[in-house]
Amino acid sequence: MEKSLKKNKSQDPSQLVSQSGKMIKPSGIREFFDIVYSMPDCISLGVGEPDFVTPWRISDSGIFSIKDGYTHYTSNRGVPELVRMISEYLNTKYNLDYNPENEIIVTMGVSQGLDLALRSIINPGDEIIVIEPCYVSYGANISMLNGVPVIVPTLFKDGFKIDPDRLKKAITPKTKAILMNYPSNPTGLTFPEELLKEVGQIAIKNNILVISDEIYSAITYDKPHFSIASLPEMKERTIVLNGFSKSHAMTGWRLGYAAGPKYIMDIMLKIHQYTGLCAPSISQYAAIEALQSGDQEVEKMVSEYTRRRNYISRTFNDIGLPCLTPEGAFYAFPDISGTGMSSRDFAINLINEQKVAVVPGGAFGESGINHIRCSFATSMENIKTALERIKVFLNNK
Ligand code: PLP
Repeated sequence: MEKSLKKNKSQDPSQLVSQSGKMIKPSGIREFFDIVYSMPDCISLGVGEPDFVTPWRISDSGIFSIKDGYTHYTSNRGVPELVRMISEYLNTKYNLDYNPENEIIVTMGVSQGLDLALRSIINPGDEIIVIEPCYVSYGANISMLNGVPVIVPTLFKDGFKIDPDRLKKAITPKTKAILMNYPSNPTGLTFPEELLKEVGQIAIKNNILVISDEIYSAITYDKPHFSIASLPEMKERTIVLNGFSKSHAMTGWRLGYAAGPKYIMDIMLKIHQYTGLCAPSISQYAAIEALQSGDQEVEKMVSEYTRRRNYISRTFNDIGLPCLTPEGAFYAFPDISGTGMSSRDFAINLINEQKVAVVPGGAFGESGINHIRCSFATSMENIKTALERIKVFLNNK
């Protein structure tokens, strides 16, 4: 009996995994981290998270919440005090007006907020326009829900700004939403208010939604962040995703939030009840402290990132890799097309010859293939050494 079961192919349990799970490609970033871990003297400009530790007062609050026994499920929406503070924060910083009772959900990072947002709007075959180059998980998240990512590229020559005509052409009767992120991972650039107005008008005219991943909103260099949801008539069709990972150096706490109109938030909350229950209680108490007293710490980190971005963008241009000055986040995205190498070959040769890890731009979509993403969330000393090594690498070609 045992034997006949084994022989029968239809009894093979490995056939039971989902098609969508099988089809998704592993992230192009992970591959490079595996190489970095195997090379102890390698300098990594590959990391996508702050190099600062979580400010102590915030961590301390998390520790106190454990000591005080706040270690249970919270309300599905989140600890009411935190939700109220997020509402105030969004109002003060970005002129957004969300009711803490029914328009905000605390999530396990923007990652879960994005998943909830997509689940709440996608029927199989629905199209989501993705502005590229973009964060590695967008396409996979949409495909796993049997949605169709429709790519709208942005180009170096346009400062990686959205071309409204290209956006309009990508819209079909199946389009549900535009998914975008600014300040952007990987380009480090952001979208100006005027452009966001145009995007908003296109969304309104075509009755589509906007999912706006604003996770780097607190890390801007020249101008404060402007949220598309603050434009007239946009709140009702925008889901804003944000969180504590980047702003407060809290990636491991897994804490974010989604804000949007009640009709979508109600659905997102139902899905959250069944799939996540609530965000970690300890992290939520730490986040209350982050919003209470964290501004000064954020400012300190941003001022250090500013120093590094000035150095890194200037030096890339000096050594012959054209680089637009990052406006936010902590990434420089220089153009390497002049070297004649693909971004993947560039990254592989650089790591092997000079022990510097960068992420090939192609990992963020076709429109990134002429670029490498270099994170400056690492010490100035590391950045200087890495750029010296990149210079040697280029001179040896
Ligand atoms: N969105 C973007 C654009 C990101 O760069 C990242 C992380 O790198 C995330 C979302 C994930 O954020 P979280 O840690 O809040 O899940």
